[in-house]
This record gives sequence, C-alpha cells and structure tokens, in this order.
Amino acid sequence: MDLRGQSAGQASGGVLIRLNRGLLDDNPQHWSATVIHELAHIITWRLHPRCQAHGWQWRQINRALGGVDQVCHQMDTRAHRVRTLEYFAYRTAGGDCVWLSSIRHRRAQKTLRRLGSTGYQTARGEPILYWLGTSRRGAPDPRSRQAQSPDEQYA
Ligand SMILES: [Zn+2]
Repeated sequence: MDLRGQSAGQASGGVLIRLNRGLLDDNPQHWSATVIHELAHIITWRLHPRCQAHGWQWRQINRALGGVDQVCHQMDTRAHRVRTLEYFAYRTAGGDCVWLSSIRHRRAQKTLRRLGSTGYQTARGEPILYWLGTSRRGAPDPRSRQAQSPDEQYA
C-alpha cells in the first residue's frame, strides 16, 4: 500500500506486491484487476523466470485468474503524480559538490552575481563558488535533504 505515483501496482522481488492505495481508493472498481495483474507476475516469474514481463505466459495466467487482458490501466492519475524537485549542482570552496534546491539556486545566483564567489555558503558555512551548469530531478524525500551536507553527497 506504499506505492505512489501513476502506477496502480507493482510486483517486486518475486514475492511482494505493492499497491497504490490512493489511486485505487479513487478507482475502487480496479482493485481486483490490479491485484490479479501483480499476482500473475509473481506466479509467472516462479514458473517462467526468464519470460517477458507481459509476455504470453503472463497473459495466460492473468486470464486464468480472471484478470483484465490489459497491460496499462486507464485510471486518471493526475491527482497522484509524485512531485519532483529540481536540484542544481554547485562546486564549493572545499572542492565538493552540493545540490541546491531551485529556491536556493535562485538565491545563490543572485548573491554570486552581486558579491562574487564568497557571497553564498552551504548550511555548514562553506563558500559556494559556482554552479556546475547541471541539474537533476529528485524526489522530495528526507534523503535529498540529508544530501545537503557536502561530505556524503557527491552524486
Ligand atoms: Zn505488469
């Protein structure tokens, strides 16, 4: 029940089924088809470990379990998209790389233009020298906040 985003379900590790409770509670008529879909994956992987995810073996088992012969669900996922934030890579005076959120990126750009390379600092007080010109999207989870510390987060 911990799955988020636009997938309704996911079978992982050959034994575990993860379900998107928020999405399925909004579309309760899809509960059984989703559970059967993922269950069919687990059974298929047990019987045919090397087969394609939605190949004929899966289709056959999914149909035998009473599932819907369809690989992609048609539920409206607009309300369930996981928001991802953009992070910007900066070089610090100590030679590390830190990822700044877009808010801090805007602030850093403004400060660096005004004061030069000593104006903006990391949370630990280390000067941030310049933007490396790259950015990436990340999930807004605790790990990305932890990653603000310069030591552990060159990535
Ligand atoms: Zn599937």
